[in-house]
Amino acid sequence: MSDLGVKIRCGLEIHQMLDTKCKLFCGCPTKLRTEEPDLEFRRWLRPTRSEMGELDRAALFEFEKGVSFRYQAYEDSVCLVEMDEEPPHPLNEEALEIALMIALLMGAKPVDEVQVMRKIVIDGSNTTGFQRTALIALDGKVVVDGKEVPIKTICLEEDAARKVGVGKDEVIYRLDRMGIPLIEIATAPVIESPEEAERVAFKIGQLLRITGRVKRGLGTIRQDLNVSIEGGARVEIKGVQELGLISKIVRYEALRQKSLLEIRDELRRRGVRSEDIKPEFKDVTHVFKDTKCRIARKALKSGGVALAVKLPGFKGLVGREIQPGRRLGTEFADRARYWAKVGGIFHSDELPAYGISEEEVERIKAELGCGENDAFVLVFERRDKAVKALEAVVERAREAVVGVPEETRAANPDGTTRFMRPMPGRARMYPETDIRPIPITEELLARIRSMLPEPPEKRLERLVKVYGLSEDMARRMLDSYHLDLFEKIVSELKVPAKLVASTLENTLVYLRREGVAVDRLTDDAIYGVFKLVAEGRVAKEAIPELLTYLAKNPEVSPEEAAEKLGLRAMTVEELEALVEKVLDEKADLVASRGERALGPLMGIIMGKVRGRIDGATVSEVVRRKLKERLSALKRS
Ligand SMILES: [Zn+2]
Repeated sequence: MSDLGVKIRCGLEIHQMLDTKCKLFCGCPTKLRTEEPDLEFRRWLRPTRSEMGELDRAALFEFEKGVSFRYQAYEDSVCLVEMDEEPPHPLNEEALEIALMIALLMGAKPVDEVQVMRKIVIDGSNTTGFQRTALIALDGKVVVDGKEVPIKTICLEEDAARKVGVGKDEVIYRLDRMGIPLIEIATAPVIESPEEAERVAFKIGQLLRITGRVKRGLGTIRQDLNVSIEGGARVEIKGVQELGLISKIVRYEALRQKSLLEIRDELRRRGVRSEDIKPEFKDVTHVFKDTKCRIARKALKSGGVALAVKLPGFKGLVGREIQPGRRLGTEFADRARYWAKVGGIFHSDELPAYGISEEEVERIKAELGCGENDAFVLVFERRDKAVKALEAVVERAREAVVGVPEETRAANPDGTTRFMRPMPGRARMYPETDIRPIPITEELLARIRSMLPEPPEKRLERLVKVYGLSEDMARRMLDSYHLDLFEKIVSELKVPAKLVASTLENTLVYLRREGVAVDRLTDDAIYGVFKLVAEGRVAKEAIPELLTYLAKNPEVSPEEAAEKLGLRAMTVEELEALVEKVLDEKADLVASRGERALGPLMGIIMGKVRGRIDGATVSEVVRRKLKERLSALKRS
């Protein structure tokens, strides 16, 4: 039982880009591009009914929208394979090797033969109309906090194209990402709390990173979560990129389902049945003849209508919050947007507002025959769109009487979710006839076993023995996203391991709490800062200030940042001169307090050198100079 008072069941599906030289089915590089594309072409995908299998409604809907797809390509990272002008090349062996390595690390059983399959996709995210995927291994596990989490399947698949825009009647995709090898790892739905979900995702991520052969950085790992609570329904949340958001998303989804069940119970108490919610729409355009509502005026002027529907027994429930900032009414609006492409809807729980007056609300209620417990939804649109929008609202309202609808949702940046599409029917798969099955031989497995990376426990030992980290810090480093960066800095720059570890694990956390956007710091920037320290160009005390500046100004190089902040390292001679000057100024203090002046003097001087020279040197020089002064005083 979670602290929300409900039983949660959650499973994860993790998609991680592999760091291979080439794509999965061609020789193109696996690099995401930011420059403008070199060329574009257009396609209309026309899958046959049989290919699409049992045509689900969402698929049919996508298909019937009649959109075309514009693909953007780069001459040097997209070839005829991605354009579907040439058959796929044999499966990338490097990718297979990494996938098998990950499978073995998770104790999964590799298949005897890898058979590439085609999974039909019709949203245009693949030029071929299908995505290629291959099962690599089954039945592995990861152990998290002493609990075994079964890994059901490990697949190798090609990444889809990147959606970069939606125009009128067209969707624009970029092909740089299409074909990059992804490993897909699916756990059994045995996770029971939001925090556990995050720890499992983390543990899997750690095993992936420990191979050193997966891509890193934002967008290279995406997690799908399936979440349900007891009495609720399986909801899939797609494409979560930030690990730190997982527990929040699971929590908010459990909360949403719990709230929806409460709304259902209240509707039932009020005696509402699904069939009471009728798709009977009333044209109330005349009510808004002289309205002050800007949205209404604009819609009606361009030939739209005001259409309303009664929701019996829904009063106070449409406006009830089900996730922070999101209401049942938001769910209605999501559906209306999806099925009818309308801008939004209005519901009676939020009115009067938006320029819609009390009087207008009362007139609509009268026209619809709303009783005390009834609510209504209103939309201003072209008639055909308005009808579709209210049909979608009626459908969703009917589901509210049943409970939680099964559906696919997308995560918002704040951890709440929004409707994405209905849960797709099980996609039919076909063997990819252009690629021959690949046997997994004992020989291949033996070779891969011999190159398995050291397990986390071994790595921990090395962090303690070789780098001299404390057990506690080594553990934190091992769990850190910065593990690779840590080893790179320590081995290449010869900066003390403890300094690097404490900067990556303590300083960054501290700065984040202080409101510094540390996520904007690139690995290169952090590396650059340590390079300055290693070369003695800035003192280690300057690291926090430098990192803060670089987080605020990511376009600036660490060298420029050090220059701008006046952090050029101070020489010992410069420091000595400064100390002499301060001792002159504070002659009274020195005379009155003797050796006990050391503390206050250190404070003053540390404040002045502001990280330009390390504290140990300052302490040594101040101590020495003070001693000289005091013995001079004694002599005189
Ligand atoms: Zn290619």
